[in-house]
Formats: sequence, C-alpha cells, structure tokens
Amino acid sequence: MRELTHFIGGKHVKGTSGRFADAYQPMTGEVISRVPLASKAEMRAAVENAKAAQSAWAATNPQRRARVLMKFLEVMARENDALADLLAREHGKTIADAKGDIQRGIEVVEFACGIPHLMKGEFTEGAGPGIDIYSIRQPLGVVAGITPFNFPAMIPMWKFAPAIACGNAFILKPSERDPGVPLRMAELMIEAGLPPGILNVVNGDKEAVDAILEDPDIQAVGFVGSTPIAEYVYTKGTASGKRVQCFGGAKNHMVIMPDADMDQAVDALVGAGYGSAGERCMAVSVAVPVGKKTADELVKRLIPRTESLKIGPSTDNAADFGPLVTQAHLDKVKSYVELGVKEGAKLLVDGRGFTMQGYEKGFYMGGCLFDDVTPDMRIYKEEIFGPVLSVVRAKDYEEALALCTDHEYGNGVAIFSRDGDAARDFASRVQVGMVGINVPIPVPLAYYTFGGWKRSAFGDLNQHGPDSIRFYSKTKTITSRWPSGVKEGAEFTIPTMK
Ligand code: NAD
Repeated sequence: MRELTHFIGGKHVKGTSGRFADAYQPMTGEVISRVPLASKAEMRAAVENAKAAQSAWAATNPQRRARVLMKFLEVMARENDALADLLAREHGKTIADAKGDIQRGIEVVEFACGIPHLMKGEFTEGAGPGIDIYSIRQPLGVVAGITPFNFPAMIPMWKFAPAIACGNAFILKPSERDPGVPLRMAELMIEAGLPPGILNVVNGDKEAVDAILEDPDIQAVGFVGSTPIAEYVYTKGTASGKRVQCFGGAKNHMVIMPDADMDQAVDALVGAGYGSAGERCMAVSVAVPVGKKTADELVKRLIPRTESLKIGPSTDNAADFGPLVTQAHLDKVKSYVELGVKEGAKLLVDGRGFTMQGYEKGFYMGGCLFDDVTPDMRIYKEEIFGPVLSVVRAKDYEEALALCTDHEYGNGVAIFSRDGDAARDFASRVQVGMVGINVPIPVPLAYYTFGGWKRSAFGDLNQHGPDSIRFYSKTKTITSRWPSGVKEGAEFTIPTMK
C-alpha cells in the first residue's frame, strides 16, 4: 500500500495533518493507497507557494505558456498506457474507457494551447478626439479546482489547462477516492517546463474544500461533483466574494420516437446507460419511449442486451464495464434498486446478485433494468449513479418533452428520431443544457462549452471552450487619449459622445 503525498511548489510533500483516507482498487476491493487529508494550514502553505510563483508566470508571454502545454501533450502521450492503467486501477473503469477519460482531457489542453489567440483583447481607434479604447484580459491570480472521482484525468485537465494558460497559479483538490492520476499529471507538468508552484495538488476532504472557500488569496473556484456539494460550494464561495462555477448531478433522459432506428437506439441506450457502470454525469439513466408499441419493442430488445452485458475487472479488455468505485457506493446503488421495487417499478433485469469469479471482494454488480417507472418515484427523481436504467413510458411527444423539461436536473438529454421537425423542435424547446440528436452522450468538444441547466449547474459560465477563458481571466478596459496635448478644459458633467 502506497502512502500518497500532496504536490506543492513542484515537489511531493508529505501530509502533516495526521488524517488519511483509504483509496481502493475497486476490481479487487483492496486498499491500495492512503491519501493524506490536508489541514487548513497545509492548504494555506500551498496557496502562499502558488501566490509567490504566479506573477512571474503571468508575465511569461502567452506563446511560451502555450509551449509548456504543448510539451505536456508530448509527455502525456508517452505516459498514456501507464496513466490509463493507474486510472483504471483506482477508479474501476476499463482501461479502454480510462484512455477515453484521458483523451477528453487532452483535447481541452489542446484547446488551451491556443491561448495567445484566445486571450486577445479588442481595440477601437478614434473612439473620440485622439481617444482609443482597448480591452485586455488578465489572469485572476491564484485559482482552484475541486473535482469528482468519476473522471480523475479529464475534469482536472478541464480545470487546470485553461486556468494555467491564462497565467494563473492553480490549486487542484482532486477526489480523495482516486488522486493518483492528478498527482502524476502535476509531476509531468514540471517535466514539461511548468515553473514550480503553478500547478499544486492538495489532497483532502471537506476541511480542504472549506480552506479553499475561506482563503482570501483564492480568486476563483471551479467545482464538479454532486448537486448538494455543488450548491454548498457555490453559496459559500460566492459569499466570500469569489468567482465560482459549480457543476452538479444529472438525470439524463433519452427520448425514443416511434420512427427511431430501434437498433441504433438500443445500442445507444446500453452503451450510454451502462458504460463506466453508469458513473458518468452524462450517462443516460432514463429511457422515454413514445407510445406503447415503441415501449414494448424497446423493452423486449433491452432485456437480453442488459442480461448479456459483460462485467469484468478493469484490466479485462473484453469487459463492457468494471466495478463501482467503492463498497459504500455499491451498497447505495443496490439500495436504490430495492427502493424501486418497493415503489412499484417493474424490475426486469436484476444485476444485484452478480459476483466476479476470482475477484469476490471487488465492488461489482450487473446491469439493472426497470420498466413502468413513474415521475413520482424517488428512483426517477434522484441520481443513482450506477448501472441502472429506468424506462418511463410517455404516451406522446409532448409528454416526453415535458418529462425532460420538468426534471430538476438538466445536464444532458437525447432524442432518437428520423423526423427532422420533431428533433429540431425538441432541441429548441427542451430545458436542458446539452442536447443530442441521435447521439446519446452529447458531450460537446473542447472548443464548445460544457454545462447543464437547472440544478445541474450553479454560476453562469460553462467549463471548457471560450467560457473557460472568460472564467479564469478578467477584462480590463483602457481609454487613452493621444496626443496628450489636446486641451478641452475641465469637464464637470459625465463625458458623452455627442
Ligand atoms: P462529490 O460531490 O461527493 O465530491 C466532489 C468533490 O467534493 C470531491 O473533491 C470531494 O472531496 C468534495 N466533497 C465531498 N463531500 C464534501 C463536503 N461535504 N464538503 C465539501 N466538499 C466535499 O461527487 P463524486 O461522488 O466525487 O462525483 C460524482 C458526482 O459528480 C455525480 O453527482 C455526478 O453527476 C457529478 N458530476 C458532474 C459533472 C458535471 O459536469 N455536471 C461531471 C462529472 C461528475
């Protein structure tokens, strides 16, 4: 068992709080590392380190900052197999899926390499007599990111790549359940030429998060995790004057219209519903077939596909998905299945009894499929975050649309249809932040922005894409008058453009 460290000022630093959390290898159920949980004093030391390094980094020209990110891409490519193996062991997802996790983060680093262009300001010559106006973007200073367990490579990169590119110093507080990859990425950044102190990883739990939210030198906080914690971080962070964006939980619906290509829809549902054991904020957890005939046909096809899902250890290349992240999370997901039965939903496939031969202590369960789920049930209202797919039957298109719109979460949604009119109407009217048309997991690419609506996000700028540059920098507008010799005398009224 490894004892992990923090990574502060370009060096591994041992935890001194005396508090630790166990991190597991979900495929075997073993504890593989002890994660130090930072005290407020340890967080403060990291922030001071970051603050001391930040102004020189901000003064480094943007092309040089971009070159560090380009070099980071090279070292990440070299380390890809090792990182994917470490990620799969700590998280439980398959190695192929771990590579996807890394790749979707890499794409945001690639986007951030365009920082010389992305940070360009605006200029108006001759806005008045001898007057020019221009705006520039400047970094905020020290900023922080607090990230969840389910994408331990991608989401840290979504946060630190644009922040660092803008000239900030960054404090990353990764999930205490799988911090190995974030720590390794911080080391690789140093190898890529990032000055020490610009990317720091401080491990911890609520105490470390509160230290971030209370620290007067942290200017902005980007959070991703469950909705109750997202709301807490947003409320507390904004109350102490910080710029805060928080992305929370989800309950993503997929509407299947009567004219949909049923083979395509079923493939999409099993992949997006059960991939990564359902532990994705863009997982499809609710299927909404429109009309009885569509529903009966869909369910008939989903049953054998759910029963034949291949569950395996993370290192099994043939597995569809691996174990869940911890025993506690597995117990929670199973308890939701029990609740669904009690609430009167029809459990068509029950994966709770699944055990993995040779890996009996791992956190495995098979796929579960419910039919006749209704909007009043808790299994419909709450995020389960496991391999559980619920079918909610809608009598017509309007009812299906209303289900997606009325749900308190609004992260992602999809419609499967051959009817362009219906798809276009759906995309326009649905109250959800990311929409897929015959695409089940509509995660926008790095140069667009990612973010949900309603209780899936707090704050008004999305992550990655142009919003990430806006979030991690501030605008300054300069009005200048040349030649300075223009004389107009003292003006006592507000200057206007006559
Ligand atoms: P989580 O809310 O338990 O943890 C997220 C972060 O908050 C972690 O760093 C954790 O250490 C910290 N934290 C936990 N409890 C805290 C507390 N009481 N006070 C302060 N900080 C605390 O989330 P998770 O289980 O790691 O991740 C899964 C959740 O993240 C799901 O709800 C999923 O939908 C969501 N998620 C959302 C997005 C998105 O972009 N909307 C993306 C990925 C995951």
